[in-house]
Amino acid sequence: MKYTTLGKTGLNISVIGLGGLPVQRTDQEGANAIVKACMEQGINFLDTARGYTVSEEFFGNALKGYRDKWVIASKAMSRDYEGMKADIETTLRNLQTDYIELYQMHNIRSEAEMEQCFGENGAYKALLEAKEAGKIGYIGVTAHELRTSAILLDKYGDKIDTFMFPYNIVENQGEELMQECAKKNIGFIAMKPIAGGNIEDAVLALKYILNNPDCTVVIPGMGDAEEVVKNTAPEVFEPLTEEDKVACDKIIKDLGSNFCRRCGYCAPCPQGIDIPRNFILVNYIRKYGLADWGRKCFAALPATAKDCVKCGICETRCPYDLPIRQMLEKVAEDIEIK
Ligand code: SF4
Ligand code: SF4
Repeated sequence: MKYTTLGKTGLNISVIGLGGLPVQRTDQEGANAIVKACMEQGINFLDTARGYTVSEEFFGNALKGYRDKWVIASKAMSRDYEGMKADIETTLRNLQTDYIELYQMHNIRSEAEMEQCFGENGAYKALLEAKEAGKIGYIGVTAHELRTSAILLDKYGDKIDTFMFPYNIVENQGEELMQECAKKNIGFIAMKPIAGGNIEDAVLALKYILNNPDCTVVIPGMGDAEEVVKNTAPEVFEPLTEEDKVACDKIIKDLGSNFCRRCGYCAPCPQGIDIPRNFILVNYIRKYGLADWGRKCFAALPATAKDCVKCGICETRCPYDLPIRQMLEKVAEDIEIK
């Protein structure tokens, strides 16, 4: 394993961290096995979330006796002060600790959400208070959308210590954000390293990411010990070869015609559909064995693929010329929303 410094936090973490979402598809015993395998491979950074149902609780149990060997991050969707304050307490209780190193505002999707978070009675205020009270060490943001993220880093970059964004062979739209983070010494956490299950060669996918010096840490979601071993193979830490670059180009070409990069340029949809979110969620159903959780997330959306009236406006804005209407039709079928 290789280690690095997580931006201005100064924390020493493994360059591969444990993404805590897929633990939902296993049980406590499975979670214990994941943690054990990670420790054997030298992984010491965990990223979980309030929104990942049992994840915090499973890891809270699995980390008993090993807490001091880990740097723990969690996150919550609350945008207001009271909500975030309550979420931090729940996280600490679930993780059975009185302190976690990093707490993040989860998936900030728009300028309105951003302003609410950093505004007078926003989530940030609760995080600052928790930091002053010694309950959390550092504050971060996670996001998927390019435009809002660029504004956020520009406007509030001095208030955050880490920034998490998708980055992988086919989704490199965040490279400028990564450079911005490097300039400001904000730790960059790369999520979705295998593009929501679309890239089959995980070793190549991780190698590609770790070859970018602006990336601090990559957090593949790992749902069993075998995945942990596979994702920490020695090749992952080697430089990209010419052969690897050719293989990356082939993946880009193969996925290029039907893969959403979550850039957000297709918004707004007059029906209120969050198009990239629909594509992300359906992959949890299709590829990650998290169908129940995926359907629950769909049910919480104000509008979904089934509300598409096929006006086609989004397709005129998509820089990748994706057949969005057709893709959403497939999503609506797959989620079987009643
Ligand atoms: S085609 Fe569907 S998803 Fe696209 S803008 Fe129109 S209603 Fe929204
Ligand atoms: S559908 Fe196209 S425009 Fe919309 S987020 Fe995906 S890649 Fe970007």
